[in-house]
Amino acid sequence: MQTHLAPFVKDTPEGREAEAILRKCVHCGFCTATCPTYQLLGDELDGPRGRIYLIKQVLEGAKPTAKTRTHLDRCLTCRACETTCPSGVDYGRLADIGRAVVEAQAPRPLAERFKRSVIRHGIANAGVFDFLLKAGQTATPLLPQSVREKIPSSRPQTSWAPLRHARRMLVLDGCVQPSIAPNINAAASRVLDAVGISLERVTDAGCCGAVDFHMNAQAAAKVRMRRLIDAWWPRMEAGVDTIVVTASGCGVMLRDYAHVLAEDPEYKSKAARIAGASKDLVQVLGERRDELLALPRIGSAQKRIAFHAPCTLQHGLRLAPQVESLLRDLGFRLAAVPDAHLCCGSAGTYSILQPELARRLRANKQAALLSEHPEEIVTANIGCMTHLQAGAPTRVRHWIELVADLIGRPR
Ligand code: SF4
Ligand code: SF4
Repeated sequence: MQTHLAPFVKDTPEGREAEAILRKCVHCGFCTATCPTYQLLGDELDGPRGRIYLIKQVLEGAKPTAKTRTHLDRCLTCRACETTCPSGVDYGRLADIGRAVVEAQAPRPLAERFKRSVIRHGIANAGVFDFLLKAGQTATPLLPQSVREKIPSSRPQTSWAPLRHARRMLVLDGCVQPSIAPNINAAASRVLDAVGISLERVTDAGCCGAVDFHMNAQAAAKVRMRRLIDAWWPRMEAGVDTIVVTASGCGVMLRDYAHVLAEDPEYKSKAARIAGASKDLVQVLGERRDELLALPRIGSAQKRIAFHAPCTLQHGLRLAPQVESLLRDLGFRLAAVPDAHLCCGSAGTYSILQPELARRLRANKQAALLSEHPEEIVTANIGCMTHLQAGAPTRVRHWIELVADLIGRPR
């Protein structure tokens, strides 16, 4: 695609990057067929090709409007289009650049900015989120159904494996996961302990920055990233070489640290090291597959499960087949899931900001996951887990909890 970027962006790092991405797009439209919002709305401008065209127009000097923003807001940043694209167009990165320009040139009304700021701070600050969650759970009976279904119920905290192995890894706690599902990282610690790895936490390391970053508060996101790096750095200097991530949404963000902080002279090399050290849990267990499969078991794998592959796992990290393969090797029967490439509608804060579209996507996804009547649904990201659990007739949990129950380490 030919481009003629406007002077305000042409010679900036973002402009050069956007231009290179835009030039790869041949406008074939293959991506449109796999875009969840195009499937729901049927409007070219609510599909990747149309959004690419909108961003191109803005970068070439056209004045964005509220309508431009709406089409970009409706995008889930699920990146299904990237997986489909035969030309390797990095749509997600282009959307980040385009959204930042649109946000600056067509600012939102004050009330909307305030609402988005409240949501960002409420989610990304673990202490604030914990308080709000507990308050919401207490007041649940008084709340309307539409709000009630968004409040996850408490899940029990189970025991953390002792730090007894020489091989140590760090784990990302994150912002909402410790409050909603503390058992995920505890289960990961027990399974890793069983294969000879001790999992360490650095308390108060905070959010990875993904919530701010994807709500276009990129400066605030960088503050959180630097804070997280500072919290982890003493352990990295002491020799820790792996950061285990149990939420694929955070995993994609950590992998992008090197890129996001590339212009920061003080942090760029640290960010690159953190990005290189971060691994999804399935990658770490994949390296210990033989030990994991040889462990004695107290639970049963004789059940049918449906695996929901989060977009961040399948389109961002491209790791979904590894989870499915590991679960199959452990003996679980995996139900077929039609249209597994489509987003469930969680997408970070999307389910709060675009509730109607998110509800429709969730209903479609739940129907697909339940089509072969699995006994339970497992996934790999806290956001998808809580979103899918609302209204689901079966339990939805992280796949590592299933594995921890199977090998039955002390709880
Ligand atoms: S599939 Fe790729 S090249 Fe084709 S329109 Fe979509 S982004 Fe452009
Ligand atoms: S990221 Fe997802 S929602 Fe956005 S354009 Fe691509 S496929 Fe559509």
